[in-house]
Amino acid sequence: MRTILCLAFAGTAAAAAQFWAGGHAQQKSPGYDDTPMLPDGKWRVHDSKRPHPKVIDPGTSSTQDRPGKPPSDAVVLFDGTDLSKWRDGKGNPPTWKVENGYMEVAGKGGSIFSRETFGDCQLHVEWCAPVPPKGDSQGRGNSGVIIMNQFEIQVLDSYENVTYADGQAAAIYGQYPPLVNACRKPGEWQTYDIAFTAPRWKEGKLDAPAYVTVFHNGVLVHNHTAILGPVQHRNVAKYGSSGPSKGPLQLQDHGNPVRYRNIWYRPLKGYDEP
Ligand code: MG
Repeated sequence: MRTILCLAFAGTAAAAAQFWAGGHAQQKSPGYDDTPMLPDGKWRVHDSKRPHPKVIDPGTSSTQDRPGKPPSDAVVLFDGTDLSKWRDGKGNPPTWKVENGYMEVAGKGGSIFSRETFGDCQLHVEWCAPVPPKGDSQGRGNSGVIIMNQFEIQVLDSYENVTYADGQAAAIYGQYPPLVNACRKPGEWQTYDIAFTAPRWKEGKLDAPAYVTVFHNGVLVHNHTAILGPVQHRNVAKYGSSGPSKGPLQLQDHGNPVRYRNIWYRPLKGYDEP
């Protein structure tokens, strides 16, 4: 590693030392203009003209006591103070309780939906199952993070609570169980970090399914998994003949007082896009 770093710095320093004359002397961007082209045909290896990624503040991680700070380019959907970024199923302000930096499923309040719609994204959600735990199987700490209002990553108290595998916490509900059960105890904050790619449609047909990568409490539980279709209960999920590329995020009301905090997403772009 040290050798590689030294070489990289040596290359950068050498390139940075080069100047070209314009109206004023201007420092040339580090890199090379005589290296082979990469397979995309747009950029050379170490291309000096390749745009630099935007600089962001990565924020901080959460602890049990305190939610972390989102990255500076995140769209914050819930910062612990209010539900202004959310609506209920009829478009009205939600009746879910907000206190002490979290929101709580209201029971009878129905599921809630982000007012913003989005597709490809990095999504961060923190949730906490009720204590003391009540009920069992699907009746214990059930909620759901439903991306684009179609694709459910299950929220459930799966700490010493057995249910069908593809319905436990962090399952792609009805399709794939998580690779491992990384559930914390009820009453403890848990994180989902999700990379999501929306389905692609072309000429009235599915061109590519949605893909999802999920980390539960920092542990990889789905690795670029192709989603079979919008969530189904007791049926095989499948795509229709067309669909949107964006949708709201739904947090499911399944009648259990699950809590949420620190919810944000970052719309995803491709490489070299500002
Ligand atoms: Mg659910």
